[in-house]
Amino acid sequence: MTEKTRKKVARMINQGYRFRFIADGDLSVLKPDGTRYEVSLTGRLGRHIGCDCYAGEKGIVCKHKLVAVNFRPCDEPTCQSGTMVYHEAETLGGTSRFFECGSCGKTTDARIVEDLRKAPVAEIEFIKQF
Ligand SMILES: [Zn+2]
Ligand SMILES: [Zn+2]
Repeated sequence: MTEKTRKKVARMINQGYRFRFIADGDLSVLKPDGTRYEVSLTGRLGRHIGCDCYAGEKGIVCKHKLVAVNFRPCDEPTCQSGTMVYHEAETLGGTSRFFECGSCGKTTDARIVEDLRKAPVAEIEFIKQF
């Protein structure tokens, strides 16, 4: 996750946004005004792929989708409430891409997550604010 993305997400949380993952790639977003949006990167659970907010319906990468891409529930069974965050780190062999849990410290290779989602996990920049 880039510093820009981290700041955007921190701002949303400070504004009162709440996020709930139903599964990896399937996110429910509650806005401070009570509006709820649903994001699915996978099309699982009968959801259409993308976000159902105004911008998402127009195919714009919205900030809700950015959260679904860069965060996921921890996949360590004993870690009940941990959230994993997407990281990129430069190593001798190139760029290491992984998700890391802020609670238990488990890391999962981003390629495994991509296979699960069948969608790229590469950093997505905002095309437009809304
Ligand atoms: Zn959205
Ligand atoms: Zn964990």
